[in-house]
Amino acid sequence: MDKHTMQRRRLLAGMVAGGALGLAGCGTMGSSAAKARVVVVGGGYGGTTVSKYIRVLSDGEIDVTLIEPNRAFVSCPISNLVIAGMKTMDDITVPYAGLTANHKVNIVHDMVTAVDPARKTVRLAGGSEVRYDKLVVAPGIDFMWDRIEGLKAAHDSGQILHAWKAGGETMALRRQLEAMPDGGTVAISIPEAPYRCPPGPYERASVIAAYLKKAKPRSKMLILDGNPDITSKGALFKTAWKDLYGPMIEYRPQHKAVAVDGRTRTVKFEVQDDVKADVLNVLPVMRAGALVTQMGITNANGRWCHVNFLNFESTAMKDVHVIGDAIQVAQGMPKSGHMANSHAKVTAAALVAELKGLPVNPHPMLTNVCMSFVDDIHVIHVASVHEYESTRASFFTIGGSGGVSDARSDLEGRYAEAWAKNIWADMLT
Ligand SMILES: Cc1cc2nc3c(=O)[nH]c(=O)nc-3n(C[C@H](O)[C@H](O)[C@H](O)COP(=O)(O)OP(=O)(O)OC[C@H]3O[C@@H](n4cnc5c(N)ncnc54)[C@H](O)[C@@H]3O)c2cc1C
Repeated sequence: MDKHTMQRRRLLAGMVAGGALGLAGCGTMGSSAAKARVVVVGGGYGGTTVSKYIRVLSDGEIDVTLIEPNRAFVSCPISNLVIAGMKTMDDITVPYAGLTANHKVNIVHDMVTAVDPARKTVRLAGGSEVRYDKLVVAPGIDFMWDRIEGLKAAHDSGQILHAWKAGGETMALRRQLEAMPDGGTVAISIPEAPYRCPPGPYERASVIAAYLKKAKPRSKMLILDGNPDITSKGALFKTAWKDLYGPMIEYRPQHKAVAVDGRTRTVKFEVQDDVKADVLNVLPVMRAGALVTQMGITNANGRWCHVNFLNFESTAMKDVHVIGDAIQVAQGMPKSGHMANSHAKVTAAALVAELKGLPVNPHPMLTNVCMSFVDDIHVIHVASVHEYESTRASFFTIGGSGGVSDARSDLEGRYAEAWAKNIWADMLT
């Protein structure tokens, strides 16, 4: 008997022992009873990658169903350039069709509204149920609106936007900038870490300033940071701001927002004086996507999900794996698209091993790079490699493995464009 036949037999034996046969006729979706099935919730950076790599690493032997409400993937990375008028929505939108055509991932465009871990099913907003042997949840982030008084109402009326999930709001913020007269003030308010994409707000301020410098040179860009200092690539950002924008950009640390007034576009702080702006971009305090809160698995401060870093299984719910921004991160691990893509690959390998009855890799590694534009062509990066340490059961950054750019450069600008195209191809084709 060859190795593959043996593996398949072991898989089948395991599935029967585990009661993992299909439930045809019980009102659940699914395919052949002989295949293990993984359901993935969320078609962002983490969810698309894990879907593809489970299919690839299992030689197509494991069924994967990806559930995502949006019809096409829209990327947060590069979306700051859309806000600044340097790219279009088309440039950051990629269809999901490649996952189906090339890897036979079943894609269901719907929202998951509930998970039943006892019956191992997920319920969809459309009313049907999907059964799983293993569930991967990659819902990204949601917002803790109540942390800033008045923000939800100001947001819902369109007065104060966050644009921290790429989509319609990305263009709405762009339109606010276009409508602002020359001489106006744009302000961005940044929450205390942890939040999605540590350098993202500083990149946004930089590229908005680049737009203002060209189109509205008497205007001002205020950065109101809830943190004591810039949370990523601080020295590089500060140098770029001084060299490229001079007094147009003003950075104010220790500005923790506590309330807003949408009508007057005013933000109030815990300690500092109020600030009024013509365009006010307030990033709300963030937590894991609503679904995992509702599932009761946000066991890190009620905000993020603790996972077993060998396979990203929730420490609160068996056979449910959480990846991407929704997890409680390990030391030095950013909430980034690149990192979600890395989580996904470790998880895919672990799930395929578990479902095939093979040992799980005891020494996984993760990589990350975050590239930030400081104008339309110059970029700075931060990179790191993370290794699992069994004695401490967590990931740690390998000393000297990464670092930051020596200086901004247009060569890195070309690398950043290539990074985006490569990671989208890795996730979606
Ligand atoms: C302005 C900006 C710039 C950024 N720049 C970079 C960068 O340069 N490099 C980088 O690496 N990262 C960057 N990031 C961070 C990156 O976007 C996130 O870290 C990444 O998207 C996290 O991936 P994820 O899979 O956890 O979540 P997401 O990519 O947000 O995907 C979550 C998906 O889950 C779906 N979903 C949620 N709930 C449900 C449900 N109940 N049922 C079904 N589907 C559901 C959502 O529709 C969404 O498609 C940036 C972020 C922002 C905002």
